[in-house]
Amino acid sequence: MTQATDAAAAARALFTALSDHPPAGLWSAPGRVNLIGEHTDYNDGFVLPFAIDHRTYAVVGIRDDDRIRVASTLAEAPVDVPLDVLDRLFPSVGSPVVAQWAAYPLGVAWALRQAATAGGRTTPATGVDIAIASDVPVGAGLSSSAAIEGAVASALNDVWGRGLDPVALARIGRRAENEAVGAPTGIMDQMASMLGRPDAAILIDCRSLHTEVVDLGLDAADLVLVVIDTRVSHAHATGGYRDRREACERGAAAMGVAALRDLTVDDLARAERAMDATTFRRVRHIVTEDQRVLDTVRTLREQGPTAIGPLLDASHASMRDDFEISTPELDMAVEAARAAGAIGARMTGGGFGGAAIALTPRDRVDEVELAVASTFDEAGFAPAHVFTVVPSDGARRDE
Ligand code: ADP
Ligand code: MG
Repeated sequence: MTQATDAAAAARALFTALSDHPPAGLWSAPGRVNLIGEHTDYNDGFVLPFAIDHRTYAVVGIRDDDRIRVASTLAEAPVDVPLDVLDRLFPSVGSPVVAQWAAYPLGVAWALRQAATAGGRTTPATGVDIAIASDVPVGAGLSSSAAIEGAVASALNDVWGRGLDPVALARIGRRAENEAVGAPTGIMDQMASMLGRPDAAILIDCRSLHTEVVDLGLDAADLVLVVIDTRVSHAHATGGYRDRREACERGAAAMGVAALRDLTVDDLARAERAMDATTFRRVRHIVTEDQRVLDTVRTLREQGPTAIGPLLDASHASMRDDFEISTPELDMAVEAARAAGAIGARMTGGGFGGAAIALTPRDRVDEVELAVASTFDEAGFAPAHVFTVVPSDGARRDE
């Protein structure tokens, strides 16, 4: 855990350099990895992510004026605005008025103030200084964005005495990302970052936002989650995401349901007759993926983690063949990991690049890493970044 301690220390040091005020505390929130349930979130379906052992830390101190100042070890300069200007800055989709990174913490402050007003609370928000440092790799598919949102939302919720619960804070983070940053994401990342538990995943019903902690039991089974970051990100990722969302909407409309979540595998024969072949394959991925998430939860509870390998493999095949969001690098990562002893593997995240995860017996982790390195080298692919992640605690106050 030296890394984590380093990031916390870096946040404290940055705060000391930034502010004349005493710190009120230290808060943190983790990145996440999705175990299974891909592209199901915007179809009102099920996802099963877990929080990871990489966190973003925020030290916050109360100012004696009405300004909010944010600094990050990743940014050149702090950003400083009067609190009441936040309502004029946001929503700002497509026309960021502040540095892109600052829209995450300032957007959280904005959304939290708005939520507090909507709830009828009148406690005025005081000015604050916020210093941020992180050991969540940025842009690697581990959701450093949810981590910064979760750390700042948790801190301001306490400092401003809002008393919102973790699910409400996840909504605040999502609103910041959607309306202040302008990224059209679902709520999975924020929920995982807020609600994570050690050695557990979080089942999220993306329609009701009902959540359940699902024990993974990886420690007892001597299993490890290996992430294989291909470090490839395709330029058509945004267009591909939009296209898949549209296909899902078309499929739901053709079936007369509000969202694909409302279909089951028994409806697929009828769906095949109701739409064109490509739309049908997109629909089949979502419908079978929802079922795989529920099957994974049941299997974990009844048989433990050693039995979920085939579900991870089936999820990957569905994304490769039906949803068509995998890449040669991701397919190779999955195949190399399986051949080297992983009991199941799949690409994780939005697709068109990014990372795969492989559920691996502890004594096979080195072999998986070597196998990925040599197959990537033989194929002429750039080296992948291979590391392990440990399902960990969600957002919390550290000091
Ligand atoms: P991911 O969430 O997969 O890491 P995103 O593009 O969603 O990638 O979010 C990354 C962005 O979030 C960064 O470009 C930056 O603007 C912001 N961000 C994340 N962590 C930090 C941090 N510690 N300091 C400043 N900005 C951050
Ligand atoms: Mg993100």
